[in-house]
Amino acid sequence: MAAGAMNRRNRWTASLADAQPVAYWLDDPGRPAALPALTGDERCDLLVVGGGYSGLWTALLAKERDPGRDVVLVEGRETGWAASGRNGGFCAASLTHGAANGLARWPAEMRTLEELGAANLDAIEAAVARHGIDCDFERTGELDIATRPHQVTELREYHAELTEAGLADGLELLDAGQTREQVDSPTFLGALYDRRGVAMLNPAKLVWGLKRACLGLGVRIYENTPATGLAADGAGLAVRTPYGRVFARHAALGTNVFPSLVRRVRAYTVPVYDYALMTEPLSAQQLASVGWKNRQGLGDSANQFHYFRLSADNRILWGGYDAIYPYGGKVRAEHDQRPETFAKLADHFFTCFPQLEGLRFTHAWGGAIDTCSRFSAFFGTALGGRVAYAAGYTGLGVGATRFGADVMLDLLSGERTERTELEMVRKKPLPFPPEPFASTGIALTKWSMARADENGGRRNLWLKAMDSVGLGFDS
Ligand SMILES: Cc1cc2nc3c(=O)[nH]c(=O)nc-3n(C[C@H](O)[C@H](O)[C@H](O)COP(=O)(O)OP(=O)(O)OC[C@H]3O[C@@H](n4cnc5c(N)ncnc54)[C@H](O)[C@@H]3O)c2cc1C
Repeated sequence: MAAGAMNRRNRWTASLADAQPVAYWLDDPGRPAALPALTGDERCDLLVVGGGYSGLWTALLAKERDPGRDVVLVEGRETGWAASGRNGGFCAASLTHGAANGLARWPAEMRTLEELGAANLDAIEAAVARHGIDCDFERTGELDIATRPHQVTELREYHAELTEAGLADGLELLDAGQTREQVDSPTFLGALYDRRGVAMLNPAKLVWGLKRACLGLGVRIYENTPATGLAADGAGLAVRTPYGRVFARHAALGTNVFPSLVRRVRAYTVPVYDYALMTEPLSAQQLASVGWKNRQGLGDSANQFHYFRLSADNRILWGGYDAIYPYGGKVRAEHDQRPETFAKLADHFFTCFPQLEGLRFTHAWGGAIDTCSRFSAFFGTALGGRVAYAAGYTGLGVGATRFGADVMLDLLSGERTERTELEMVRKKPLPFPPEPFASTGIALTKWSMARADENGGRRNLWLKAMDSVGLGFDS
């Protein structure tokens, strides 16, 4: 490394000196204590496994659909300790990991998917208000930023494609000057502004609020209670936990990136580690140097992208870029910290916002994303329709998990609904191959995507082959 670059890197890494190795959102005095574990046997109509957004929305919607339904939720550790408590807090209407991905996979369904997604985000906003969930929900929208000339062209083409498909409502193309009037960085060359389709929120406060709302509706929640086995029992199910069993008519699995209780589902996801930094609060002067009066979320439009946003107290969360797949595909606490990624993120942060030199990071963390090869959730049932599952949200599950919860309840009811008729719901993604093929394929894909970013966006033969069979890798 040249001496200049080395000095620069050292200066930026010093900004990490005080960063706590924990997710900022979970480092909160308001974090509720875990509820007692299940000891003994339980009986219920519906057992929900997993205390992230997926599981909590499922329990909440089950009670809202039918207050008489007896619902139990078991969580292996604490509600919200995993992805739901440590994400970026971008709550998007999109159910398809962005409209580009949806258009490529389900062009005929995209209007319906976008309408369902918009209704889902409205329903989240309404539920937050109805249940008094204090999670700093702000419907600010999002800027999709171009930082390289080829991305300006790509954003323009993408906007034209969406306009032709009738999907560009509320979207606005901004040139460099208009973009920098919103948020000022010398690296910004243009943007696509989605004013309504994304909200910013405090992810941990949402999960804790959902937990409170569930308890208020009579859901019985047991924490530190991993479900270790699932089997048919008469006309229902028996689920094993360390100190007791749950007998239920139905079960809904919201277990995300963790090994599914339905074994055949496991090959459809791999864990991909995503990392984030949080700064100290910006002073009024620092904030003024960046602008950002409309408080939108931002993401750049590279294959290896950053996402960034303000917190309620005007810190900047800065995350993304490196998407790390650990060989063997196991979720392990040791992957939550990755100093080389944090140093890289700090470097990129000050390249984006040189006017904030001197700002320090207070928190640095990572977490596992349930990547599937089509980047948006898949659904299914097991044990003759007594069990439903939803997983594979791939880094865009804050909003979409509520939709997934509705799908799981539809599937368990046995009814055909607009949701269950969707091709996205009826069909599964391609599974990932076993090792060593998974890590070799992922490494080649990541290398190709990084080259495309450097190379005017041009996709090599490997990426084109992957595109043609609908296989991909993202975070
Ligand atoms: C760093 C990071 C940033 C992200 N940023 C964003 C973002 O800005 N916007 C966005 O939309 N998405 C984002 N995501 C993704 C988003 O957080 C997830 O899609 C979403 O939280 C998934 O919710 P979930 O309930 O399915 O999973 P989780 O929150 O992982 O919950 C699953 C729960 O199930 C429990 N569990 C698993 N197995 C069992 C079992 N056998 N028995 C009992 N309990 C079990 C686990 O302990 C866990 O608590 C991000 C993810 C990460 C990691």
